[in-house]
Amino acid sequence: MAEDYYNLLGVARNATEAEIKSAYRKLAMKHHPDRNPGNKESEASFRKINSAYEVLSDPKKKELYDRFGEAGVSGAGGNPFGGGRGFEGFGQGVDPGEVFGDLFEGLFGQQGGGQRGAPRRGNDLKYEVEVSLEDAYHGSQIPLHFERQQSCETCKGSGAKPGSGVKRCGQCRGSGRVQFSQGFFSMTQTCPVCHGEGQTVENPCRDCRGTGRARKAAKLTVKIPAGIYEGATLRISGEGEAGGRGTPAGDLYVHIRVKADPRFERVEDDLVVERHVDIADAALGTTLDLATIAGDRTKIKLPAGVQHGAMFRVRDKGMPKLHGRGHGDMIVKVRIIVPMDLNARQRKLLEDFARSLHEGHDDGKPHEGDKHDRGIFGKIFGQE
Ligand code: ZN
Ligand code: ZN
Repeated sequence: MAEDYYNLLGVARNATEAEIKSAYRKLAMKHHPDRNPGNKESEASFRKINSAYEVLSDPKKKELYDRFGEAGVSGAGGNPFGGGRGFEGFGQGVDPGEVFGDLFEGLFGQQGGGQRGAPRRGNDLKYEVEVSLEDAYHGSQIPLHFERQQSCETCKGSGAKPGSGVKRCGQCRGSGRVQFSQGFFSMTQTCPVCHGEGQTVENPCRDCRGTGRARKAAKLTVKIPAGIYEGATLRISGEGEAGGRGTPAGDLYVHIRVKADPRFERVEDDLVVERHVDIADAALGTTLDLATIAGDRTKIKLPAGVQHGAMFRVRDKGMPKLHGRGHGDMIVKVRIIVPMDLNARQRKLLEDFARSLHEGHDDGKPHEGDKHDRGIFGKIFGQE
């Protein structure tokens, strides 16, 4: 059983974003491995507060955590995309370096948390895409337009002015890390001159000021697979921001929203559709002609005496299964409508009908032939 994230950070459940950030910052500085070299306890605390902050600093994850506890954000169980090819659900670990880059600028340098020798990777990007239920059914190609840091064309991402080379960084002598003292502590930090790369350019490229990157408009098409769910996230590897000077690019995360459809309610891979049936058709039986999500039509027979709330399953007319073959079903829910404005003739017919119905037994008790007690609610009838 994991500790409560709010307790870990020592904040109230209704703490503001700023309070959470400030509490995290204090604790993270206290337990930072650079300040407690070799101290396993501090290391463990540091990891825990990072996990807590990763969730509580993200409004979506925080909401899931508040509602479902750790199960809502852990990615294990309840996440239909766990383990899928290229799909990632919530609870994907945030690189602590990212959190640090944001919070510890100034104290630990621009890219704090980077390990010795580890290449600086470009930032991940997030993009939200909304598709219709039809697009989710058929699958679709969605063009994305956004801005990102891309490799500078002038220097091909090297950061060096064309024709000039790179040299070993004089500040850290090529190690990428420097030591400094603050109070009692001796700390290492990423070299502020070469940003951990161990080398600097002789003459920086003028177009990107030696960073190797420039902000540019990007265009790409993302393929949305048939059967995609609301809330799914697609990861497109290497389509995030370019890294510094020749290091790998980050990933692009495409978060999928599926628009609600006025006709169908989606329940996993099944589609529930409600159809109105008047009392005469319900009593006599009828055939319903239904539009499917695929765009064609299908007919189902309702037996005489169908009851309000009865459900009929039409096989394979639901959503395609994202992982695996086949489709879900379409489930037709019958809603019986009682007429409200009868004309004189209809009224007369119904009065005659009522009389014939009540003939012989006006004691108010159910009789054979009254089929109101079949336990029909909740049952789903199969229909091919
Ligand atoms: Zn350049
Ligand atoms: Zn350096």
